[in-house]
Amino acid sequence: MATERTLSIIKPDATRRNLTGKINAKFEDAGLRIIAQKRIQLTKAQAGEFYKVHAERPFFDELTTFMASEPVVVQVLEGESAIAKNREVMGATNPAEAEAGTIRAEFAESVGENSVHGSDAPETAKEEISFFFSGLELVG
Ligand code: ADP
Ligand code: MG
Repeated sequence: MATERTLSIIKPDATRRNLTGKINAKFEDAGLRIIAQKRIQLTKAQAGEFYKVHAERPFFDELTTFMASEPVVVQVLEGESAIAKNREVMGATNPAEAEAGTIRAEFAESVGENSVHGSDAPETAKEEISFFFSGLELVG
């Protein structure tokens, strides 16, 4: 087990419904520390760059329009096995399949508007953190 960092995004459906604090409580209750955080408004082009791995998927246009529709909160979470732990706390992509007590089971509105993003592996975590944060912003 090792201390890791992962990139989290509280998505527009959740910021719109004033759920930032409730979602952050889920992270903190699971032992994840929010070591960096900012609220920003993405452009559709920036959302497309962030989600470029999904560029060929049928939902890409819907996803990038949604991500640029209202502010998001981008954050770095740190803790033991933070990447996998965050994915556990988030729950399955489709809220209908998410385990009870997870963020998506409690808050997500649909498979697309599913309240949170979390990195899925060490390489993507590193890349996604540096997409949004400079080294100076990561004080630990
Ligand atoms: P996750 O966010 O759980 O890692 P994916 O990487 O597969 O899921 O997908 C990225 C995001 O794209 C999802 O969180 C969701 O917002 C959106 N998405 C995925 N599948 C669909 C779908 N079938 N219809 C609409 N949006 C989707
Ligand atoms: Mg993903």
